[in-house]
Amino acid sequence: MDYPLLVLGGTAEARALAAELVKRGVRVVSSLAGRVEAPRLPEGEVRIGGFGGPEGLAAWLREERVAAVVDATHPFAGRISSSAVDATHRAGVPLLRLERPGWSPHQGVEWHWAASLDEAAAMLPGMGERVFLTTGRQGLVSFAGNVTQWFLIRCVDSPEPPLPARHEVVLSRGPYTVEGERALMRRHGIDVLVTKDSGGSMTAAKLDAAGELGIPVLVVRRPQRRDVPTTTEVDDAVRWVLTRLDAK
Ligand code: NAP
Repeated sequence: MDYPLLVLGGTAEARALAAELVKRGVRVVSSLAGRVEAPRLPEGEVRIGGFGGPEGLAAWLREERVAAVVDATHPFAGRISSSAVDATHRAGVPLLRLERPGWSPHQGVEWHWAASLDEAAAMLPGMGERVFLTTGRQGLVSFAGNVTQWFLIRCVDSPEPPLPARHEVVLSRGPYTVEGERALMRRHGIDVLVTKDSGGSMTAAKLDAAGELGIPVLVVRRPQRRDVPTTTEVDDAVRWVLTRLDAK
């Protein structure tokens, strides 16, 4: 019987894990939320769209006879991770969290932590006049009431209103280079950078570029997570999966 592994994805780590497991002959089904118009597709099977909360996910795990689940979603995707905890508990399926480490303050960078997007929005006035906002398409509403600063908003797909009154949107997807980030910030006269603590190397270049240009960064902390076995390494996750599949 070919019991599949479910990878909750939408990240580079999820794609790396799927590729490693497919190489080893594991049947992998990766799940994407369907938020991005043209997502980077992982190797193996792919399903797209929500499950309908923890009940829907638990039913899906039973129907598909899933052997194990790896939650490799983005550190800020809290709802699907919480759903995975409840659903795997209900369906009696083992769960591992694969999460890249967060960033720590870069040397030489003026680094400010915010507890949430709303707190970042409240801290921002007075920190500069031209903001590079790289927190993604969701949650921009937190900054919509800001009429005093100008924003360069960078997202993968076009953001929807409400947006800050004075802004320009740049659509692009990482990875980015320090040279590219430095040039972009210079071109737009950026004097403050706002980011989530996404971690990883794909989008870290902006922090180094900000440091070089003497631009302060405002970093939104990751949301609290429920306690589940967690690794930061794809190799560990591969070993965990192979052990679970051997036991089936
Ligand atoms: P979220 O708030 O945790 O999820 C909202 C709902 O979307 C979930 O309740 C679930 O619907 C569905 N969903 C989310 N991820 C899914 C997945 N991998 N497969 C199937 N359904 C999923 O998540 P989000 O912040 O909207 O992020 C959506 C996706 O984008 C995640 O997969 C994440 O890895 C990726 N992503 C997020 C960010 C970010 O900053 N938040 C950045 C980069 C990539 P149901 O309840 O109906 O199952």
